[in-house]
Amino acid sequence: MDYRYYDRLRQRRLKPGECIFTEGDRGDYAYIIDQGSVEIFTTLEDQLYVLSVLEPGAIFGELALVDGRTRSASARALTDTLLTLVTREQVDERIQSADPILRMLLFVVLGYLRMESTHFRRRNSPNFSIGLRERTDLLPRISQAVDLIRMESELQSAIRDGELKLVYQPILHLASNTVVGFEALTRWYSPSRGLVPPSIFMPLAECTSLIIPVGEWVVKTAFEAMRQMEQVTGNTPFISLNIANRQIEEPGLTDYLVNQAQCYGIPRQRIKLEILERTLMDSQLAPRWMEECRQLGFPLTLDDFGTGYSSLGYLNQYQFDTLKLDKSFVQELEDNASSRSICKAIIDLSHALGMTVVAEGIEQATQGELLADMGCSYGQGYFYAKPLSLGQAIEFLQEHQPSPHGVS
Ligand code: C2E
Ligand code: CA
Ligand code: CA
Repeated sequence: MDYRYYDRLRQRRLKPGECIFTEGDRGDYAYIIDQGSVEIFTTLEDQLYVLSVLEPGAIFGELALVDGRTRSASARALTDTLLTLVTREQVDERIQSADPILRMLLFVVLGYLRMESTHFRRRNSPNFSIGLRERTDLLPRISQAVDLIRMESELQSAIRDGELKLVYQPILHLASNTVVGFEALTRWYSPSRGLVPPSIFMPLAECTSLIIPVGEWVVKTAFEAMRQMEQVTGNTPFISLNIANRQIEEPGLTDYLVNQAQCYGIPRQRIKLEILERTLMDSQLAPRWMEECRQLGFPLTLDDFGTGYSSLGYLNQYQFDTLKLDKSFVQELEDNASSRSICKAIIDLSHALGMTVVAEGIEQATQGELLADMGCSYGQGYFYAKPLSLGQAIEFLQEHQPSPHGVS
């Protein structure tokens, strides 16, 4: 909970008859009635229609605040009235962080309320004929909500029906062009939707408990793949697994990792767990979870460093083994001198703190060379290999044999 908005309670006192807002106004606040009473009304051809009279405890004006449109009715105080104001920020932040399906449904419900008020006006005025706009505005919202709900149930059966696939993107030691590990990335081949990118279905899985079976499937599949890589090539690359916020919040992930690692005979130091900086910000459990992982011997990687918050404080506060330099920096390296300076500073700082650096999103040979010159030891990106099927990953590994002295 963010308490910033509660540092000063905003209130407003009104005299009987005083206007609170007028139909068509921008909706900057919703109101809670602390004392007094409020009339909500609309006027049609100079005639006033009372829609409701509200008493202490009631909230009103929330419709325009949430959907960002203008007031659909007017409000005035009937008696001496005290109101508490709810600001747009208080509502916006919560809506943005809400479950996407709930958010969609909220807009659908609000849309229906808007339509109701339009119908009221139509019923009471022969000259009043909008309504089509309300309905056409609402249709995309309904179809988005329905589509998310459908996708969620499809994802549920996707695990069971084998529609999820894991692909493996090589991580290379830049100076020797050899593979040191792979990042496991999930793909969903939906019979009806085609290839759904993880940027679409992972957030959906994460806002439901589906992330737990998806995450467990990833762990099992990745460990099975490592065993096969080792059996076929005799090499022992590490695997990097992406861990979502929700997986940290639910108990049981570390137990599952420990059990499966034992089951497949994979040493824990070869299982790297990648978490986003955002997860550190959002999850109160992250510090304890990271400490547990460290004690169990799973190396930790800070993913996408350089995007979003990028607080140097995190590097100091949490002991990461690896830092992943985000592709947005890497892709600007050649054209942008300040990107070069930032990359160099991040690489030097990481080394000073005892972390290795993996540069992501290397698409050109020159980017890899520049990074290697700056002291960055490891990289991944389309220039070396796209995420590969297990068969292709094994071939790639055979062609890029790690050095016998092993680097991680
Ligand atoms: P990420 O962890 O940052 O993964 C790297 C993404 O960059 C991958 O996208 C990869 O295909 C892409 N990529 C690799 N090399 C290049 C390059 O040279 N250029 C460009 N432009 N892109 C490159 P992908 O596979 O679409 O995954 C997107 C994100 O979805 C991942 O970002 C990760 O956050 C999430 N994700 C994927 N699989 C999983 C999973 O199993 N579990 C969780 N929790 N998240 C996952
Ligand atoms: Ca990652
Ligand atoms: Ca990344």
